[in-house]
Amino acid sequence: MSNILRKQFLTHVGQTSPSPLMIEVARAEGSFFYTPEGKRYYDLVAGVSVNNVGHANPRIIEAVQRQAADYMHVMVYGEMVERPQVQYATRLAELLPGDLESVYFVNSGAEAIEGAMKLAKRYTARTELISMRRAYHGSTQGAMSLMGEPEGEEWKEAFRPLLPNVRAIDFNDFEQLNLITERTAGIIMEPVQGEAGVRLPDPEWLEALRLRCDQTGALLIFDEIQTGMGRTGALFAMQKYGILPDIVCLAKAFGGGMPLGAFIARKEVMDTLQSNPVLGHITTFGGHPVCCAAGLALLEYLIDNHVVEEVEQKGALYEELLKDHPQVVEIRRCGLLLAVELGSSEKMYRMMELFKENGILSDWFLYCDTAFRISPPLTISEEEIRDSARIIRECLDRL
Ligand code: PLP
Repeated sequence: MSNILRKQFLTHVGQTSPSPLMIEVARAEGSFFYTPEGKRYYDLVAGVSVNNVGHANPRIIEAVQRQAADYMHVMVYGEMVERPQVQYATRLAELLPGDLESVYFVNSGAEAIEGAMKLAKRYTARTELISMRRAYHGSTQGAMSLMGEPEGEEWKEAFRPLLPNVRAIDFNDFEQLNLITERTAGIIMEPVQGEAGVRLPDPEWLEALRLRCDQTGALLIFDEIQTGMGRTGALFAMQKYGILPDIVCLAKAFGGGMPLGAFIARKEVMDTLQSNPVLGHITTFGGHPVCCAAGLALLEYLIDNHVVEEVEQKGALYEELLKDHPQVVEIRRCGLLLAVELGSSEKMYRMMELFKENGILSDWFLYCDTAFRISPPLTISEEEIRDSARIIRECLDRL
């Protein structure tokens, strides 16, 4: 990378990371991206669980180009009948379990969370929200309020006051379910916690949580922003547990690489944002037709090519190939979302350097810098899994 480009990047592109990766991307294809000098990297992050059907997927490119040529932005969300939105929403309603049939399209994960919080408050006419410890739901002030202490405290403290009436409970703690009461508007959780370093709730606890929500009238909100669109080996992680939320939030892979999010609920719930006041959520670009066309192409690609059916097997292969290395303390996994635990942040940061040298892009987790992430495109081949695992083992050997 030239010194001028480096300087312009650091000076003019707003930064909040003290140590950006500083790898210039020239192009990306399948499971790889390339620098202008031609260095190839295995993309084991997939844009943080975004590029589920690989980079430069021809079906998505075709959908984007076609829609961009037909029309892009026409009017603020919800006024015009735009086919890509209607088709994507209809297809989602068919594929989602239960009667989650009303899809409100937004721009991002955090905005989907904001919409879901507003909807829960509006539907129940209550104000209290309950989240989980070590939750990550986004970086806007509402979503940030849901970051459970103590981990989220580091980020929240400087931005207070945030939302009042938010409390956090622990995954798998039956006792704490009693904190959900008739005052609670919604309980929000990731069915698999991503930024906590891949942590899973027990299915029995989830069942008890659903029951408690039913008893108290609180809405159960699933944040499937990272787990949705096949990442865990089911199209939606809720299907693995057989638990139906009242609201589900999607983003990341949902836009096929374009910025798109959604909060989805039963029609009777969603319709409460339509009156007193009208326009309970407003967005200019939410559900952008090009993003919806890309998202629909992603969904159809996943289905037509049986991509999701292979996810569990691919994730298990990574686990098998890495788990016996002496530097690996533990592997936490759900489908193709893996946290490889090294038990020390020094080792993890050293691995990042070794990865960069050896053509692997990985990352750590917001609340867990002792483990590195493997969340590649779901289309990664067996050969690519074996080859990237070989490189990872060589890097582990050098720790
Ligand atoms: N929810 C979860 C589980 C996430 O992992 C993220 C992003 O990492 C978000 C919400 C926020 O999404 P966005 O960055 O699109 O606002």
